[in-house]
Amino acid sequence: MKITIIAGARPNFIKIAPIIKAIQKKQSEGASLSFRLVHTGQHYDKNLSETFFEELNIPHPNANLEVKSGSQAQQTAAIMVAFEQELISNPCDLVLVVGDVNSTMACAIVAKKMNIKVTHVEAGIRSGDLSMPEEINRIVTDSITDYFFTTSTWAGENLLKYGAEPSTIHFVGNVMIDTLHQNLSRISAPNFWNEFQLEKGNYIILTLHRPSNVDEENSLIDLLKGIDQMVGNKKVIFPIHPRTKAILGEQNLSLKNILLVEPQGYLNFMYLIKNSFAVITDSGGISEETTVLGIPCFTLRTTTERPETIEIGTNHLIGTSIKNLEKIFSDFLKNGAKKAGIPALWDGKASDRIISILLEKYQKPQ
Ligand code: UDP
Repeated sequence: MKITIIAGARPNFIKIAPIIKAIQKKQSEGASLSFRLVHTGQHYDKNLSETFFEELNIPHPNANLEVKSGSQAQQTAAIMVAFEQELISNPCDLVLVVGDVNSTMACAIVAKKMNIKVTHVEAGIRSGDLSMPEEINRIVTDSITDYFFTTSTWAGENLLKYGAEPSTIHFVGNVMIDTLHQNLSRISAPNFWNEFQLEKGNYIILTLHRPSNVDEENSLIDLLKGIDQMVGNKKVIFPIHPRTKAILGEQNLSLKNILLVEPQGYLNFMYLIKNSFAVITDSGGISEETTVLGIPCFTLRTTTERPETIEIGTNHLIGTSIKNLEKIFSDFLKNGAKKAGIPALWDGKASDRIISILLEKYQKPQ
């Protein structure tokens, strides 16, 4: 079986790393299986791309489509045009896409139109919010996916509602958590740990990159000033995403607690998360990682496509108003963290399950 694996953006790199390891394990056991890794070039900053390949030992991509930035349509179209050529030159049995970025949807469409089977890892999650580009990517991708791999039974139910064939939906767990399990013993403190005099359990991590929080400059500044006030004397480490940095520019916001740093590599970032007091974020992936690590997480969004992080895990859905964050954060300071657990099958073995199922169920007879 020849698989083409697609990765385009930071969360994709974290998700494909364990899938490639699972393939390599099967190869070493003699399975008839090969893969070709295609980087679409959607994220191209060293901090968001190359660092992850190095730290997570992801093989050098076989092809880089180098699409870079653009509007939603420009980027999607550029990926489709380049990927069609890639697939003509390098045919395969199956295209495997992960997550919900533009590369996920664009490559799924191209593959399906070339009669190649599409596999979607992290299928079926839904926020219900069509103003998010990711939600459109999820719906379109799942509408043409042949084999679905899901992180929760809830995601499977969404797929059934959309008419997916039940026997093609496989609840396998969470590949992002596979990466976490595989790398926990390797995480390390960033260089600024001593410089900022950080202490375990006594600082907060902040990440913001969703258009709803960062695209309007004044509300972004109000949000940052509000958080700066709210945290008392706790330091807040804010690895600033290039999108957010571009909006803020070089202006001095006179923040007393929030410390801006570059986007972190995976190993430093997970060290920071694991040892933090709490996390404030608008990232989906981080709400999964904090759930597994037992770190309280406050999500600055009005919806989530990962309800298990709230119903079972450590996540709180805040909305985007600083007032609500202040209220829920002060309840947390008063009453302590809520009781939380880890969702079923988030055990570090999802990628092995995916590759076993692909080989056992979907490999064409030789
Ligand atoms: N991440 C990282 N360094 C950072 C910020 C995030 O390694 O400075 C990792 C984080 O652990 C998570 C992933 O990037 O696994 C999430 O990416 P992002 O927030 O960009 O995407 P989302 O999850 O919102 O799709």
